[in-house]
This record gives sequence, C-alpha cells and structure tokens, in this order.
Amino acid sequence: MSASAAASASTPLVIIGSGPAGLSAAIYTARAGIPTLVLGSAPKVAGDYEIDNYFGFDETISGRDLIERGRRQAERFGAQLREERVLAVHHGDAGGFHVKTDKGAYDACAVVLATGVARVRPGIDNLGDYEGKGVSYCVSCDGFFYRGKQVLVLGEGIFAANQALELTQYTPHVCICTQGKEPALTPDFQQRLADAGIAVDTRKIARLVGDNGLERVVFADGAEQALDGLFVAMGEASSLDFAYSLGVERKGVFLMADDEQRTNIPGVFAAGDCTGGFLQIGVAVGEGAKAARSAIAFAKEQCGVKKAG
Ligand SMILES: Cc1cc2nc3c(=O)[nH]c(=O)nc-3n(C[C@H](O)[C@H](O)[C@H](O)COP(=O)(O)OP(=O)(O)OC[C@H]3O[C@@H](n4cnc5c(N)ncnc54)[C@H](O)[C@@H]3O)c2cc1C
Repeated sequence: MSASAAASASTPLVIIGSGPAGLSAAIYTARAGIPTLVLGSAPKVAGDYEIDNYFGFDETISGRDLIERGRRQAERFGAQLREERVLAVHHGDAGGFHVKTDKGAYDACAVVLATGVARVRPGIDNLGDYEGKGVSYCVSCDGFFYRGKQVLVLGEGIFAANQALELTQYTPHVCICTQGKEPALTPDFQQRLADAGIAVDTRKIARLVGDNGLERVVFADGAEQALDGLFVAMGEASSLDFAYSLGVERKGVFLMADDEQRTNIPGVFAAGDCTGGFLQIGVAVGEGAKAARSAIAFAKEQCGVKKAG
C-alpha cells in the first residue's frame, strides 16, 4: 500500500499512535486477520527510561526495548507500521474516515485513536475567556464562520501549516503565529504556505482583547493586530483535535470511551492515555486489546472483512 499527496490508499483499519496502546491493538487486529495500518512516531516512553513495573519482565527493561519488541510483534502478525504524523481525521464523503498525514492520505473503515496525551498550551492567560468567541481548535468545525475574515493560526509545525492551508477555503486573510517558537516546517509546507500567501510571524501573543468576542491580539512587544478568529494548532495534532473534527465526546482533555473502548462515533475507538484514568503502560496495553476486540467486531460487520484462515 502506498499513499501519495494526490490519492488516498484504502484500508479497513487505521490505528493512530504507535505507543503501548496502539501496538497492543495492532497485535490483536492483525492476528485476527484485519489488515491494519499503524501511523505514528516513537512514543515518549521509547527512550532510555527504565520500566520496572510492567508484567513479565523480571529485570528492568528500557522503554526503547519494550516498544521495539511491541513493534516487531505487531509486524510479525502482518501489521504495517509507518512513521507518519497524522494532521487531520475527518468523516469520509462516502462513509468511513479520511486520515491525512504529512506523507499522504488514507481512507479507513474504522479508526483506533491511541495518541497519548499531548495538548501543548499556548501560554496566553486569557485564552479560555474567548473559546467559542473567536478562539477555536478545529478548522473543519469552525472555519466556515470566518468567511472573508481576518484569522490567525497559532502553532509552529506542519499541523498549524495544514490548518492554515485549510482555512484558505474560507478566507484569504490567514497568517501563522509561532508563539515565539522556531518554525518547524518541511520545505514542502514552506513552499505551500508561500504559494498560498500565508505569512509566518514568530512573535509571541501576550493576551487577547475584545468586549463581544475576539477583536484583536496584543503581542509581547506591545504591538496590536485586529483579528476575528484564532485557531490553536500548537505542536502535533492530538487526540483532542481528532475528537473535534470527528465529533467524539470528551471530558476535559480526554476522550470518552465505554468499557469496550467504543466512542460515541461508530467505527472510532480510543485506548490508552488519551482516554485518561491511570496513565500506565499496563492500562494502555489492556485498553488497546479491548479496542482491538471492538474494532475487529466492527470490521467484520461493517467493513466486509472476513475472519482469518
Ligand atoms: C518518561 C516516561 C516514563 C514513564 N515510565 C513509566 C513506567 O515506568 N511504567 C508505566 O507503566 N508507565 C510509565 N509511563 C507512562 C506510560 O509511558 C504511558 O502511560 C503509556 O506510554 C501510554 O501509552 P499510549 O500508547 O496510550 O500513549 P503514548 O505512549 O504516549 O503513545 C502515543 C503515540 O501516539 C503517537 N501520536 C501522537 N500524536 C500523533 C499524530 N498526530 N500523528 C501520529 N502519531 C501520533 C505518538 O507518536 C506515540 O507513538 C512513563 C511515561 C513517560 C513519558
């Protein structure tokens, strides 16, 4: 299977996240004969951290070794693992889900969200006062309300770039503010921003101003800029961003899932740290297994996938 920027590859199941939850889910789904694609980069725990409390290892194991073993095990059963950053997940035009990454795009019948917790806060004290009144976290949800208006995307990476490019469907007045960070954009995205006329401003926003919703931003250097909409897209796209675009119910920064790891959206399952609770490897692995069981049942009923062998 290959993905290009122009065309989407189709697969029954995409798992977003290659940490303990995502890999555990992949072991079960691939072993059950469900064609499984896992998208994600090395999780934080895959460093030289010492894991002493995970079942079955009587000696300390490094996070790196544990994740590497999990990756090999998932691949042994046929799961495809790809180092790709997911930028957006939407409902597909003909059902299912459309997953866009920094390298391509995929259409999937079912999705497991296993992205851990990763919301980067922008550090603007009164941001919360303007949520829903000019501040948004989802272009596909709210971009329409800013047709022809002045909007700014807050973020330094390709997630922010992708959100800014998506906003040009609604307004030509789009710029990016990196909130004092160095831009982390690939040459491809730099070119696409330049072609779309989207400027990148590296100053830091100190506060938001407006009596009836957002009217302007004040930068740390005291300069002001009139603004109608501010879209937050710091760091990497997280489970929260995917929840916004898919309509998955949340509790605070976590996704809500039932005892079988099903979300309120049929075909979308969630497992591991992104669902909150006890943030530990053992829990993430267990939830990954349960999400897999639910995804297997869904794939067999809804995606035309037959039982293996
Ligand atoms: C330093 C450290 C030490 C720890 N030590 C222990 C310990 O000793 N014992 C213990 O039980 N727990 C420990 N934990 C907690 C444990 O690591 C987590 O509970 C566990 O990793 C959760 O697994 P997860 O799969 O839900 O999420 P994560 O491990 O966070 O994995 C999330 C995955 O999603 C991917 N991802 C996120 N966003 C995107 C995107 N937009 N596109 C593509 N991929 C994306 C990431 O790259 C990653 O692969 C530790 C955590 C840390 C950070």
